[in-house]
Amino acid sequence: MTAVQNVLISGASIAGPALAYWLGQHGIRATLVEKAPAPRTGGYSIDLRGAAIDVAERMGVLDEIRAAITDITRIAMVDARGRTKAELDSSLLAPGDRSLEILRGDLVSLLLGAAGGAEYRYGDTITALERRDDGVRVSFDRAEPATFDLVVGADGLHSNVRGLAFGPEQPYRRFLESYVSIFTVPNHRGLDREVRLFNTPGKVLVLYQTPRAADAKALLLHRSPEETDIDRRPAEEQRRHLRAMFGGMGWETDRILSDMDQAPDFYFDSVTQIAMDRWSSGRIALLGDAGYCPSPMSGQGTTLAMVGAYVLADELARHTEPGPALAAYEGRMRPYVAANQAIADPGLAFIAPQSGLGIAARNLTLKAGPLLSVLSRFGTKLSKASESVELDAR
Ligand SMILES: Cc1cc2nc3c(=O)[nH]c(=O)nc-3n(C[C@H](O)[C@H](O)[C@H](O)COP(=O)(O)OP(=O)(O)OC[C@H]3O[C@@H](n4cnc5c(N)ncnc54)[C@H](O)[C@@H]3O)c2cc1C
Repeated sequence: MTAVQNVLISGASIAGPALAYWLGQHGIRATLVEKAPAPRTGGYSIDLRGAAIDVAERMGVLDEIRAAITDITRIAMVDARGRTKAELDSSLLAPGDRSLEILRGDLVSLLLGAAGGAEYRYGDTITALERRDDGVRVSFDRAEPATFDLVVGADGLHSNVRGLAFGPEQPYRRFLESYVSIFTVPNHRGLDREVRLFNTPGKVLVLYQTPRAADAKALLLHRSPEETDIDRRPAEEQRRHLRAMFGGMGWETDRILSDMDQAPDFYFDSVTQIAMDRWSSGRIALLGDAGYCPSPMSGQGTTLAMVGAYVLADELARHTEPGPALAAYEGRMRPYVAANQAIADPGLAFIAPQSGLGIAARNLTLKAGPLLSVLSRFGTKLSKASESVELDAR
């Protein structure tokens, strides 16, 4: 019998439900508290790669994931008039059977379905954590206080649990000198299962469409050597900032900027990694983006969340005390996190080159067959990183 019997998880997106599923498999009770009033549907596309595919298979959701993939295979780089300058077959970035792209909301629904045995509390949040010898006394915004053997923060980049247990975010942030926005827009261009990228130095508009949604998604990313507080400003200021940054840039940007005002799901944030010396403090632990966000530029956040959930539950089941279990979780995950966080810098250089020369060089690389080795080297690094963990430790 493990000493941990009763776990509170903050956040019901990817890491939270994946952990709830695996705890259930080990006979450990999970309660999830999620600040959103209901499960969120839709969302942008995310990737499951390498070991995360094995975790999904062990959860019995791999066939459903395969049935829901976005099925995007071609990525085109276009110029200010929409003419294709270079094209890329996305399978070059990772072999198809070890890389699956799916909409975030679809994956969340599948994980929630798999982890149906857990208790879910939507529309609530933790307000205080009090460490006691035998557990953590937790206060909530709405529910009555309760004591849990372990509290896990799976509540994303701006984790509430991390703030309560480890203090403000700033010392743990690694700002990747850029800001990103994503939102749904009408599919004016009639895109069909494809991605188009339009760059000017340090800026990119990405438009894509998947068979899972009639509309398209627009992603606007710009470099910013200075870290400002724009990611913490009201959405209206962020929209103004984007209009100033991208207005008149060419191709579809002006139409996208006017669509932005009607977008139901406007998202804006800094591109940031979370780097911490430790992911637990007593009986409070961090999982997924909350502890080790690799940033959207790595494309590996979902993979880390899924694998981290598996490893954390595995170690809790192997140990009778939470301390050694959390140390073992960290020991197994650290090199994996480091390898996958390292993908973000080359990812950013690829998606948003800093200069006109950089954009031209990238497009030339994609066009010139022999130079594709540069890309396949990046693909190899990505694949290696996503596989570099042992699920069946010891
Ligand atoms: C624009 C963008 C593009 C991305 N592209 C990719 C990609 O291509 N590939 C990829 O693998 N990853 C991508 N990611 C990253 C991916 O979305 C995350 O890494 C992944 O979702 C991490 O899962 P998580 O469960 O740890 O955190 P999250 O998915 O962030 O979930 C956190 C959950 O906690 C909840 N929460 C927050 N605060 C509280 C609170 N106070 N109380 C209770 N609940 C709370 C939130 O509502 C949310 O449900 C992208 C991210 C963004 C923003």
